[in-house]
This record gives sequence, C-alpha cells and structure tokens, in this order.
Amino acid sequence: MSTLKAVRGTRDLLPPETALWNRIEATARDVFARYNFGEIRTPVFEETALFARSVGEETDIVSKEMYTWEDRARAQSEKTQSLTLRPENTASVVRAAIEHNLFESGQLQKLYYIGPQFRRERPQKGRYRQFSQIGAEVIGPPSSGSESPLRDAEILEMLATLLDELGITGWTLELNSVGSAADRERYNQALRAALVPVVSQMCADCQRRAQTNPLRVLDCKIPADQPIIEKLPVIADSLDEASQAHFAAVTTALDAAGVPYKLNHRLVRGLDYYTRTTFEFTHGGLPPHGASSAGTPVLGAQNALLGGGRYDGLSEMLGGPRAPGIGFAMGEDRLVLTLLAQESAMPQMADAFIAPLGEILNAAALVLARELRHQGLWIELGEGSFRLKKSFETADKIARHIVILGEDELKSGILTVKNFSTGIQTKVPRSELAVFLSTPASE
Ligand code: AMP
Repeated sequence: MSTLKAVRGTRDLLPPETALWNRIEATARDVFARYNFGEIRTPVFEETALFARSVGEETDIVSKEMYTWEDRARAQSEKTQSLTLRPENTASVVRAAIEHNLFESGQLQKLYYIGPQFRRERPQKGRYRQFSQIGAEVIGPPSSGSESPLRDAEILEMLATLLDELGITGWTLELNSVGSAADRERYNQALRAALVPVVSQMCADCQRRAQTNPLRVLDCKIPADQPIIEKLPVIADSLDEASQAHFAAVTTALDAAGVPYKLNHRLVRGLDYYTRTTFEFTHGGLPPHGASSAGTPVLGAQNALLGGGRYDGLSEMLGGPRAPGIGFAMGEDRLVLTLLAQESAMPQMADAFIAPLGEILNAAALVLARELRHQGLWIELGEGSFRLKKSFETADKIARHIVILGEDELKSGILTVKNFSTGIQTKVPRSELAVFLSTPASE
C-alpha cells in the first residue's frame, strides 16, 4: 500500500525545530505584553464574504488562493454556506471586534494573534499553503486616538524591538504611504492613464492588473517590466495635505526613536483595505518588488519577514462603525528559517543524560532525574540495560553532560559527570549536582 504524506505545501514541525517556534512565540508574547496588547483567537474558518469584502475580490488572495467550500446544509431549513479557511487574520479580528462591540467602550483595542493561515500558493522555500502568522492590530473609534501617527510609529518601534529581541539581525524596514481612499483613487487614475501606452509591452499578469487593480503592477517581479514600472507615476505625488502631514509625523517619530527605515514608493501592498502608512520588514539580499537579485538571501525570493499598514476604512467595509486602525502580520515560518541560518539560534541540548549502570538502578535514576527536573534542569533519562558505551554515544548526541549512576555512586552520593564539550570527567556530590550541571563554568 502506498504511504500517505502531508499535503503539498503543508509541513510537520518536529523537534528540535519546534523549540525554536516556542521560543519565538514566547518572545512575541512577552513583547506584546510590555506594549499592553491582549491576545485574540478567532476561528480558522469564516464566511467567504468576510475576505471578499475586506481583502478585495481582485486581489490574488481572494481571486485564486483561498480554500473555499460550500458547506453542506444539515437540515432542510438550513442553506448551504460558502466558507473559507482564513488566508489572513486582520479581517477576522475586525469582524470579532465589531461583533463583540469592542469599539463601544471608546478605548483603543490592542490585540495580537498567533496562528495558522491558509493560501493556495505555489509552494517554495519560505512559502507554504499552511503557514503561521504572528500579528497585532491597534484599532478603535477616532476618539481613542487610533488615527494618530504616533500609533504607526509605536507599532513600528515595537516591531524593531521584537526582531532585535528575537535575535534577527540585518533587517530593513521599508516604508511608504498609500494615502486615503481618495488619494488612492486619484493615483489609480494616474496609473491607468500612464499604463495605456506601455501596457502592451508588459507581462500577461500586468496586462490583467492594469485593468483590474493597477496598483498591483508595482508588485511585478518580471525583470523586463522593471524599466517601464520605474517610469510610472509615484503615489507620493497623489497624496493630499492631510496624508502628507500624517506620513511626515510617522517618520519624525521614528527618527526620534532611532528606528531606521527606507522609503520605498513601490510598497503599496496587495490588499484593498490598506490606507496611509504601509510597511514591510525584509531580510536578506534581495531588493523587494522587482529589481535584480544581490547577495544570497536566507529566504530565497521570499524576503519579506512581515508586512502591514493602516486600514482606516476596514471596519466600515465590514458593516461596523468608523474605527481606524493599523496592524501587521509576521511570517513565523520565515522567522524560523532566518534564525536557523544564524547559528546561535540552534535549539538547546538537554543539560544532562542520566545513565543507570544496570536495570536494578533504573528506579534510583528516575528519582535523581526527578530531583534535577524539579530544580529546572533539562534531563534525559537513560536505561539500565544499555551498555556504558551505548549510553555515552546516545548522551553525546542530545545532552551537554552524562551523569553515571552505579551502586557506588548511589551509596556514596558522589556522582561521576562528564562534560562533552571539554571532555573532562569530574566527581560531584549529589547536593551540588544541579548547580554543577547548570553553570557554564562547568564547561
Ligand atoms: P501578507 O499578509 O501577504 O502581507 O503576509 C505577511 C507575512 O506573512 C509575509 O511577510 C510573510 O512573512 C508571511 N507569509 C505570507 N504568505 C506566506 C506563505 N504562503 N508562506 C509563508 N509565509 C507567508
């Protein structure tokens, strides 16, 4: 019989790599708590209309990447329902905030989430059909200050802190403003007009985008199209005074906080709900949005660690009250890939492997393991039927030390410990064992 495998574009995550996933999530939760965010958990599937209305019918996500099905009616009185595995989480968060009347309190809502998202994309390194995002949203009625450029700067400063605390080095913050809905409409018109004489020389995707969603032309990565795209009008020229002032206040606050950024007028982001500030944090040598490659990025062509922006009209698009907001989604899979490429991120080994010399010592070894684990050490417990050579070979692969427990050691309370990195063997009293195994000085 043929064996069954995980579906293309999905993956099993196994130890030791899962330790890194847990560390990333713990660091993110810690940073979010310090910035006073609370966690929200929304269902992994929603009504299809939620994404069609918010993300936009003409986006790649909605037009070709969603896992959508017609859910069967269970009773004659029920209708079938079109449901979709969430391709992103912002729409669900805003839906939930409206549904639970969170905006009525007048307070700013600061919510974060960690969880799987689903898109039927062409799988490649750093791009999967089930992937995990860590994201956060700051949203509330205008009276809560949700529209303030300070909110944008604060979230960007938080992201710089989070990436630094995760130990991700060499990131770049790319920043742009796509203006208000009216600014974008003006820009769309300018783009459409500029595309008319040149679009026939562009790729098939751009020809389609020029009709349906001209902003997406700026995302094109086909080298031959780049010289044409470089000559198209830039969105900064379509921003009205209020949008310009908002963006200037964001960059002034970032400058004050010492958060470095690069302006990128092609960063318009794909989703319909974005307004004003848009951003991406990238990593590696690939310049984003087209242009030729340079360096050897860890993430292959998928160099965006995270993306986000302001979405001042999203709540109204979903039938809610006016509630401007800003948020981001970070690709957890890509954080893991980036950290795995940085040696220091390799998951930790157990502090010690306990090797009982003979099955008769198994119970005593369990007691010793229990003592050490209660003191916070990571312990792997061997088996008395193993020959000493086999215990050493096993221990060397998974632990920093081996602790030998024979009849003599049990009686005298003096244990034999070998440190694998130094090769030194030492006698350690049982009462001092935990400290010995956990101090770097023992190496
Ligand atoms: P987006 O919602 O497309 O802006 O994505 C935000 C972040 O999620 C990206 O910067 C990636 O890090 C991550 N991401 C998006 N799509 C995928 C995918 N198919 N596989 C892995 N990570 C993804």
